[in-house]
Amino acid sequence: MSNSIDGSVNDNEHVMIKIFNSFSSNKDKFEPFEKNMVKVFICGPTLYDYTHVGHARIFLTYDLLCRHLRERGYDTDVLVNMTDINQNVFNKAKDESKDYHVVARFYAQKFAEDLNILNIKSVNRFAYVSDYVEYMESHISQLLEQKIAYYANGNVYLDISKDRKYGMLSKQSRNQLQLHRLDIGPNKKSQEDIMLWNCSDDFGFSWKSKFGSGIPWWHMQDTTVALENFGANYDIHGGARELLYPHHEAHLAQYKMFSTSENPVKMWMHVGLVLSNGEKMSKSLGNVVWSKDLAQKYGQNLLRLYIFSTHYREDVNFDEKQIIERRQLLQKINITGTKTSKKTDSELSVLVEAFFAALDDDLNSPKALEIFENICSKVIAGSNIGYDDFQRICQVLGIVL
Ligand SMILES: [Zn+2]
Repeated sequence: MSNSIDGSVNDNEHVMIKIFNSFSSNKDKFEPFEKNMVKVFICGPTLYDYTHVGHARIFLTYDLLCRHLRERGYDTDVLVNMTDINQNVFNKAKDESKDYHVVARFYAQKFAEDLNILNIKSVNRFAYVSDYVEYMESHISQLLEQKIAYYANGNVYLDISKDRKYGMLSKQSRNQLQLHRLDIGPNKKSQEDIMLWNCSDDFGFSWKSKFGSGIPWWHMQDTTVALENFGANYDIHGGARELLYPHHEAHLAQYKMFSTSENPVKMWMHVGLVLSNGEKMSKSLGNVVWSKDLAQKYGQNLLRLYIFSTHYREDVNFDEKQIIERRQLLQKINITGTKTSKKTDSELSVLVEAFFAALDDDLNSPKALEIFENICSKVIAGSNIGYDDFQRICQVLGIVL
């Protein structure tokens, strides 16, 4: 069931939601493959370190999206891949003289704790990519049999000349694609071909397969996890904007080979970066802000208000002062929570619907928060908001009073 703009309830029709789709570069009308179910894949953490504020922003964004979709009458099915087959994970394991599993499970536990502290409850499927290696092997074999993939120097590559639309997601021409130096493969048919299996023994950990020992390559890991969980298609693929190329472009090319659809993923939804003094956060620069430290210092309510104050597609220059500035709004929300009534005044009903309508429009959370602040000011000045309406707003924002 969904509430339409005029407040009437309609069993059949969903309110129109628009999402900026990186594939079309447009705000597209959102319609999931299945009428009431939205399947979301989010590129998950590489399990060798704690969650930083940039990761937290990604998961908070999709949490907001899923909460809003549920408010609008959809069910959500959210899958996060947990990357444990990765050089950084293996290096950490070697440094600590542990098996990579031990390292990966430790950081997976920390990731789960971070999501919990941030009240992120939307993710219902967590998949360790190492649990899917036999499926990766079978997918790669299938591509080899179909002559869509080939061997070069022991590695296996996807021949991207088989995909006429390759480059469309990241908006690159063939010439532009050839300029990237993806990996050093002297016998690759074409520079832009995507690695599926890396036969190198240098990683420290490897898997035996019919292609020889080695590791399934990053993009194929995600493709297999998504295929095994969601089948031939799903609705939204999410992650940081920096994953657009080569990761998402490669994933889409691979996915199409296993789907009958030209567009097996309806929406590509990318989140901007969290920068520190204009630079990317990285351990080597010493400017990383950990999500758990912020959550402990400010609480998840304040962090949500801070993150949602910027539209998800924009980059954010991290500034602790701006978190503190959000205290004023949180205080207003708290006061409003003590002043709810049985019914919402008609003037405020319009604003309540405008709040949700702002989120229908490509998750315009800054506008939604502005409207919510206006609602709170009016309630503090004597207008009435119903308990249910107030709770609906808090529920979508993930605010717990
Ligand atoms: Zn991914």
